[in-house]
Amino acid sequence: MEYREILRIIESEISTMPYSGKVASYIPELARIEAEKFGMHLYCIDSGHYHFGNSEERFSIQSISKVFALTIAMSLLGDTPFNRVDVEPSGDPFNSLIQLEYENGIPRNPFINAGALVISDILISNLEDPKQHFLEFIHKITGNNSITINTKVYESEMRHSHRNAALLNLMKSFGNITNDIEAVLDFYTFQCSIEMSCKELSTAFMIYANKGKLINNEIEVIGPRKIKRINAIMQTCGFYDEAGEFSFRVGLPGKSGVGGGITAIHPGQYAVSVWSPPLNPKGNSELGMYALERLTTLTGLSIF
Ligand code: GLU
Repeated sequence: MEYREILRIIESEISTMPYSGKVASYIPELARIEAEKFGMHLYCIDSGHYHFGNSEERFSIQSISKVFALTIAMSLLGDTPFNRVDVEPSGDPFNSLIQLEYENGIPRNPFINAGALVISDILISNLEDPKQHFLEFIHKITGNNSITINTKVYESEMRHSHRNAALLNLMKSFGNITNDIEAVLDFYTFQCSIEMSCKELSTAFMIYANKGKLINNEIEVIGPRKIKRINAIMQTCGFYDEAGEFSFRVGLPGKSGVGGGITAIHPGQYAVSVWSPPLNPKGNSELGMYALERLTTLTGLSIF
C-alpha cells in the first residue's frame, strides 16, 4: 500500500478545500485556536509513520480522552462500569440532558458527556490519585512522559461547565453519581484538557489496533476481549449524533473531540489521527472527517 502517496494526495486536496465549520467557542479558550491548522499522522503496524502538516503540534484532546478513561475503568473493573452506563448510540448531541431524564439517569454510552462523567465518578472511587493515574496511563501507552494538561483550557472549561454540572446533578438525583459533583466535574475537565499531537494520539491508539499490546515491546496493557468491546463502542458511539455518518463515510472505529481532533483505528493495520479545529454542526472536525474518508477510499480498505 502506497501510504506516502495517499497522504500526499490528501494533503493537496485539503490545502484548497473550502470549509464552513466553526472552531468551538463554548469553551472560550478553545476559540483562540487558529482555524487553518491541519495535521495528519498515520502509524502503520507494518510500515511505520506517515504524516503531514501540524501533526506534531499539541492540541486539546477533549472527548478523545473518554476512550482512555473507559480503558482505565475496564482494566480496573472489567464489565462492571456497564451496570451504570449503557452501550447504545445516543442519537443526541454530546451534552444532551433529555434522554437522561426518561432513562432514569443511566447514560446511553461512555462517550457522551453524561456517560463519561459516570466513568469519571467510577475512577475517582477506585483510584487514590486519579489525575496522576490518568496521566501515567497516557505516558505508558505513548512512551512520552511530557504529556500533560493545558491549564488555561482547564480553567476556562471549569468556568463554563454549567451543562456538565446539570448532567451530574440530574444523575446524582437518580443515585448514579456517588462522589461530590465538584470533584467529578474537576476530574472530568482535567482529562478533557490534556494536550497531545496527532503523532502522540496515533501512538497511544496503537493499543486499540494491536489487540491491547504496546507496539514497541508487545507488552499487554489490556486484554483483547476488552479491546474488542472498546472498539465496538467507538464504532457505534464515537461521533456524538453523527456516529452513523462517520461509519458510512469512513468505516473505522474512532473518537472525536471538540478541539478538532479525530483518532481512528483499523484493527491489525494502523492508528490514524487528524486535527483541524473547524467543527461541523454535529461537533466533529469537518476537514478531519474528509481526510479520513479519503484515506479509506484511496486505500480501498476499511473494516467493512
Ligand atoms: N470537555 C468537553 C465538554 O464536556 C468535551 C466535549 C467534546 O469534546 O465532545 O463539553
